[in-house]
Amino acid sequence: MKENKKVPTFSPPIPDYKANAIQSMGNGLLNKVVLLFEKPFWENGGKFYFANISSSIKGRGEMFLWQTIPESRVLTTYLAGSSANLNLPDELIVEKAMHILSSIFPQQCPRAPLKYKVTKYQDDEMAFGSGSYMSLRTEMKHYEELTKPLISPKSQKNTVYFAGEHTSERYGGSLQGAWLSGLRVAADMANEILGISFVSCEDIEIIDENDNDEILSMDRP
Ligand SMILES: Cc1cc2nc3c(=O)[nH]c(=O)nc-3n(C[C@H](O)[C@H](O)[C@H](O)COP(=O)(O)OP(=O)(O)OC[C@H]3O[C@@H](n4cnc5c(N)ncnc54)[C@H](O)[C@@H]3O)c2cc1C
Repeated sequence: MKENKKVPTFSPPIPDYKANAIQSMGNGLLNKVVLLFEKPFWENGGKFYFANISSSIKGRGEMFLWQTIPESRVLTTYLAGSSANLNLPDELIVEKAMHILSSIFPQQCPRAPLKYKVTKYQDDEMAFGSGSYMSLRTEMKHYEELTKPLISPKSQKNTVYFAGEHTSERYGGSLQGAWLSGLRVAADMANEILGISFVSCEDIEIIDENDNDEILSMDRP
């Protein structure tokens, strides 16, 4: 991704510290296989999850987790890491999925789904992957460097801001991280443009009070 000619370029170029921080991050891959069936052949009462454990280390990221939502005719599974970078045609991936399903539900499983969708985030020009992760080269300072706005040489003001899950030191790779980073940038821009002091988002903590609800609280008023 980092060497790909189709990614956005900056003029003037981004500073070395930021380029190094980008280079230090891992770029992960998690693809989805979504299968629509004529009718559910699994337990259809509530959220339903099941797992498939590969017999080989190489295949451990391949269709390991399956899930559905209540009353749906859709099953979803995942292809992670090197197993996600399958250059197989979609038909073969779906065949593999059906093979796993027929071994779990030998009586009920149909031969094929009605429809399917296999994501290829690695080839998506708006993504080139599916999220950041801490690589062996990532240091905590890199998050700060990824977050730092760029100053215009002309006006000496911050003109380019950076949000996204990859800028979140605490909740990287997640919706929480993406959302909080958006709040941070909105507050920083308001400070810069309007001169209004907004509460920093750095003190927001996501507290998992129980299994179902996540609430936000702030350390200081
Ligand atoms: C299969 C899968 C399952 C996941 N499950 C979970 C989960 O259960 N819980 C969880 O918390 N997180 C999950 N995540 C992670 C979560 O989806 C991401 O962390 C989050 O969406 C990242 O948000 P973002 O705003 O940083 O980036 P994105 O959502 O990728 O947003 C970036 C946006 O920028 C746009 N863009 C890119 N390049 C350009 C360009 N050149 N010009 C204009 N626009 C551009 C893209 O189209 C995109 O809309 C999952 C991710 C995947 C792939």
